[in-house]
Amino acid sequence: MNNPDAGKHDFSMPFQVEGAEARGRLVRLGPVINEILGTHAYPDPVARILGDALALAALMGSQLKFDGTLTVQARGKGALTMVVADYEHNSDEDGVGLLRGYAQFDPDILGLLGKSPSFMGMMKQGYMVITIDPKTKPDQKMNRYQGVVPIEGKTVADSARAYFRSSEQIPTVLDLSTVKVEGQDAGWRAGGLLVQHLAAPGSQAMVDEKENWTRIEALANTISADEVTDPNLSGHDLLFRLFHEDGVIAYDPQTLQRTCRCSEEKITATLVQFGKDELADMVEPDGMIHATCQFCSALYKVDPQGLG
Ligand SMILES: [Zn+2]
Repeated sequence: MNNPDAGKHDFSMPFQVEGAEARGRLVRLGPVINEILGTHAYPDPVARILGDALALAALMGSQLKFDGTLTVQARGKGALTMVVADYEHNSDEDGVGLLRGYAQFDPDILGLLGKSPSFMGMMKQGYMVITIDPKTKPDQKMNRYQGVVPIEGKTVADSARAYFRSSEQIPTVLDLSTVKVEGQDAGWRAGGLLVQHLAAPGSQAMVDEKENWTRIEALANTISADEVTDPNLSGHDLLFRLFHEDGVIAYDPQTLQRTCRCSEEKITATLVQFGKDELADMVEPDGMIHATCQFCSALYKVDPQGLG
């Protein structure tokens, strides 16, 4: 690795456990998650959920072998009604992974739930949707993929595990953590670990490898929230700590950055779909229509005269 900071902040590091058919990713979000959360003023429980969802989007999205987006979306009926985290891979951006996200919640209901409500407690009931949208060129044909699971368990990771069980059916270990650090270096940090057994389901290799996989699974599950989010513990060192008995090969990490894809053109394109009367209702005292991007909170002021 050329960059001494690579493997500390904002990366997704692919790895392979030697001697076992296991492969995975380690993700850590530092400045990126603070930039994303910094454009909102979410209460801590909401920020924590969005952090986990962003780590999940980065873990899954950075495995895409083509340009496109992977979106993690959770919809609920409780204090938290919507969480969106998306990852974009664009080969024009030197392979950097681009992240954005937002949440919608009801502060009054949230206030009744105590200091640290669970994901399930905040969503009440709902579902998680994973969408993979390939960015295709005119001569390519790739379909959009969507998988849905009901929200279950206490955490975002619990629902994501349910997704892997039902959609991918590959033995998977998944850990997601979001922590708020006080004092020096105060801020949010998130991290995630995904390890998957690669032997084909039902194959002889899977039977032969069962013992190895059970051990890798147990080792992966020892990871703590402090370890996965600690910028002073490099990705290499953490993977070595977990899997040194079997041996682990860590590959060059991919850099993650915050992004937003909003623009005045996109906002205008949305607004022109409304009827004349609806648009008239949206006009503010300054004579303009105000539209705020949900992802980055950018405010656009659009002249209704220009909307045809
Ligand atoms: Zn935006």
